[in-house]
Amino acid sequence: MKFKPANNIQDLQYFGEFGGVNPSISDSSTYTFLSAKTMFDTFEGNTEGCYLYSRHSSPSNLYLGEALAAMENTETANVTASGMGAITATIFQLCNAGDHIVSSRTIYGGTYAFMKNFLPKFNIKCSFVDSTDLNAVEQSITKKTKMIYCETLSNPLLEVSDIAALSKLAKKYDLPLVVDNTFSPLSITPAVLGADIVIHSLTKFINGSSDAVGGVVCASKDFCLSLKDVNQGAGMLLGSTLDSIRASSILKNLRTLHIRIKKHSENALYLAENFEKAGLKVVYPGLPSHPGHEKFKKQMNSEYGFGGLLTLDVGSLEKANELMEMMQKENLGYLAVSLGFYKTLFSASGSSTSSEIPEEEQREMGLSDGLIRFSIGIDNDINRTCELMMDCMKKLEIL
Ligand SMILES: *Cc1c(COP(=O)(O)O)cnc(C)c1O
Repeated sequence: MKFKPANNIQDLQYFGEFGGVNPSISDSSTYTFLSAKTMFDTFEGNTEGCYLYSRHSSPSNLYLGEALAAMENTETANVTASGMGAITATIFQLCNAGDHIVSSRTIYGGTYAFMKNFLPKFNIKCSFVDSTDLNAVEQSITKKTKMIYCETLSNPLLEVSDIAALSKLAKKYDLPLVVDNTFSPLSITPAVLGADIVIHSLTKFINGSSDAVGGVVCASKDFCLSLKDVNQGAGMLLGSTLDSIRASSILKNLRTLHIRIKKHSENALYLAENFEKAGLKVVYPGLPSHPGHEKFKKQMNSEYGFGGLLTLDVGSLEKANELMEMMQKENLGYLAVSLGFYKTLFSASGSSTSSEIPEEEQREMGLSDGLIRFSIGIDNDINRTCELMMDCMKKLEIL
């Protein structure tokens, strides 16, 4: 595949108001109009390039949105105050009371909780299926279904979705395929493979410095405009708008994403290979032993590798906790949720970021107690980190 997402970001050229190399930050919540007529037209959604009120749109948010649209190969994008803000606005825009969603069963805990616990208030039902089983996906589509939802690389099990195949299925039933690509920015470009709407939590790899919360919906102009519609738009009316100052800081970090992702991927592959060689139960899509390895390879922009996430099953929650505490004490990473930081972050998924999923369902989907999710950092000396991690595992008799 010849798609070059980082080039597309770099090829954009924005100058600041005084010739600055960065675009000026729009430090205003509201905007003046030269004529009352233009204000009226803007309310009606007819005036491109005019700003009304910053919950609707702002120059800083547009700059970041355009860069993310360039990365994801969609017509445009709306940035939001969080990944959940992007996900919930998208769902509410696509679904009415009585509608139905087909979703992958292994998704981010917050998304799962929203679909399972919150949407029933609006009589919106969800079927959770194994999205790697296309038959299961097709069989759960009903006349009321309004969208198919999955993550490119699922959280925390790292299952790989076949986006092209899911997109073909979605098109057969005239449904939009909505893909959360938070775990694999640059590595996989779902829109090139047929996804209609691509969502990210910017909080993770894209911002990369664990100092901001943000999200984005990358989609067609029509869909993004509908989200911003002053009368009907879920983005506009639910109010999950990103602040301009944050939009500006995230845009600056986005420009180094390609370098960071390559290093995250290189380090994760090194650790995964060495953990596997040592006989540990490691899951990483870059390993040929991973059931989705070929599927990932077929879909990837190869220069970015298989991403920074891997999981390690150490047998029990007690062992997992002991290991994580020891690794933190040795300064090999932090016991923290989230991902995409310069430092390795680890957490036991079942009791943290996926705790919204009932234990029984966790078992069913293969999420065991002793599973640690690692977001591998951009350590300069990964062989040293690897040796020290293995030392910890030897001390705890995991190895
Ligand atoms: C973190 C995360 C989200 C939610 O994003 P926030 O920015 O925390 O709201 C959604 N999907 C995935 C895959 C995530 O990792």
